[in-house]
Amino acid sequence: MKALVYTAPSTVVFRNEPPPKTVSEEVLVKVDAVGICGSDLHAYLGHDSRRVPPIILGHEVSGTVVEGPNPGSKTVINPLITCGSCDDCLDGRTNLCENRQLIGMNRPGAFADLISIPATNLVNIPDSISSVDLAMTEPAAVSLHAVRLADRVLARPISEGSALVIGGGVIGLFCVYFLRDYGCTEITLTETNPLRRKTVEDTQTCKVIDVEKHSVESKRYDAVFDAVGIKVTRETSIDAVKNGGVVLHLGLGSAKGGMDARSMTLSEITFIGAYTYTAYDFVAAARKIANGAIQPLNWVDERPLSDGAAAFQELIDGRVASPKIILRP
Ligand SMILES: [Zn+2]
Ligand SMILES: [Zn+2]
Repeated sequence: MKALVYTAPSTVVFRNEPPPKTVSEEVLVKVDAVGICGSDLHAYLGHDSRRVPPIILGHEVSGTVVEGPNPGSKTVINPLITCGSCDDCLDGRTNLCENRQLIGMNRPGAFADLISIPATNLVNIPDSISSVDLAMTEPAAVSLHAVRLADRVLARPISEGSALVIGGGVIGLFCVYFLRDYGCTEITLTETNPLRRKTVEDTQTCKVIDVEKHSVESKRYDAVFDAVGIKVTRETSIDAVKNGGVVLHLGLGSAKGGMDARSMTLSEITFIGAYTYTAYDFVAAARKIANGAIQPLNWVDERPLSDGAAAFQELIDGRVASPKIILRP
């Protein structure tokens, strides 16, 4: 089969690879559409010690079952493989599973014609839904998880409050979409890349600001979603959130800095690190995409898998207006 293989820092090569070996309990899936994630870019730059080359990256994937139950059916793959028997799995918090594995990290990913995956990781979806839209399920699930956690800790429903989203990549944009789906109408998003800002503005789903020109108001928002996760965005988050509000930290930009514990204590701010999604968040996100609640998705940039190397480089250079490139084998 053909695959886009990460072979060394800043290098992905489109080449022939042996097809996956299917083991028992696993299903062989033909990949129809697969997104390039920020974490794939991070790995590509050689910044992720968990993704060791050579490896096929890619974990945002929709496809068609080739071998296994219901061959020919359309499916979306939950890329987090969890044990099902640890305390966190038993409690439904599968994203915290101590034995979790991610495709494209601990095992081959989906920038390829075919992938093998445990049958329990497949979510079946009506055939009428676009494969490209379905490949957005994974990032959508990340955002849904964060919005759900925020809504749970606020004193009043998020539909009555205001939200700030930092970062106009796909996670930030999907936070906006799910906030709206939860009934929140007062949403501001900040983005520094003008191409990305324009894309978010065109969705007409929130107010968009450039923090280099307009500062973010202090103590203004009930919930702040940091989809960047660097020192300066953490500072902004803690400054912008109201007393008693919640900061959802999703970005993995840098590990340290920007936390004012004194101010967080005095203002009783809840700070939540939000990582991936539970198995049920994933199913819920797939259904939201299938029923059209998460719209518009017309900004998706679709390209052949064979052009993957150029797509990686354009993303690194900040030359892509779309928050998501989807590759098609
Ligand atoms: Zn991802
Ligand atoms: Zn587990």
